[in-house]
Amino acid sequence: MLTLAELGNSRMLGRGAVESSLVSHLKKTPYTVSVVDLVHRPGEMREKVLDISEPEGFGNAVIGVKQGSNVHIDVRLESLHDGILVSGTVDVDAEGECVRCLTDVSLPVEVEFQELFAYSEDEAFDYTVHEDHVDLEPVVRDAVVLALPFQPVCQADCLGLCPQCGVRLLDNPGHQHEAPVDPRWAALAGLDAEVPQDDTEKR
Ligand SMILES: [Zn+2]
Ligand SMILES: [Zn+2]
Repeated sequence: MLTLAELGNSRMLGRGAVESSLVSHLKKTPYTVSVVDLVHRPGEMREKVLDISEPEGFGNAVIGVKQGSNVHIDVRLESLHDGILVSGTVDVDAEGECVRCLTDVSLPVEVEFQELFAYSEDEAFDYTVHEDHVDLEPVVRDAVVLALPFQPVCQADCLGLCPQCGVRLLDNPGHQHEAPVDPRWAALAGLDAEVPQDDTEKR
């Protein structure tokens, strides 16, 4: 029989083993950048330009960066005492549909980012240096996704679609239908001319 204390210890050992297996191997993607020349050299700095063909695509439900889109990244990597400070700018085109008229929308997104990649595996840090590399992918994705609109429009004054026949109203200026006659009022149509007079008399 295990005592409670022993049980606690074995659980902690088990969990530790799982965690170390999760962080063991560096998965290299186009977004992983070597910082081997900067690690533990505070004061050293390097700038880099990346042009990445986005491997998977990402975004919100209505607009996003498609797989294969060019992601242009200007990045500055600075060595600090506790890690590598990564700052830069992403330029990319997001694609989606106008929420009013459903035509395709291509929206240039330019957004800045800055994160510290710590040497320590401490939970206090969201990002860490792994095997002398930093992975810009989650940083770039988060920055771009936060900058995406939830209601993209093809142009600010898009009039949307005709609710009756579905034509795009910007393409059909002056488009209208005959006003539908509500059958409940049809019988009173002949009284139209008198209605405004009644109204003014009451005031
Ligand atoms: Zn539109
Ligand atoms: Zn119509």
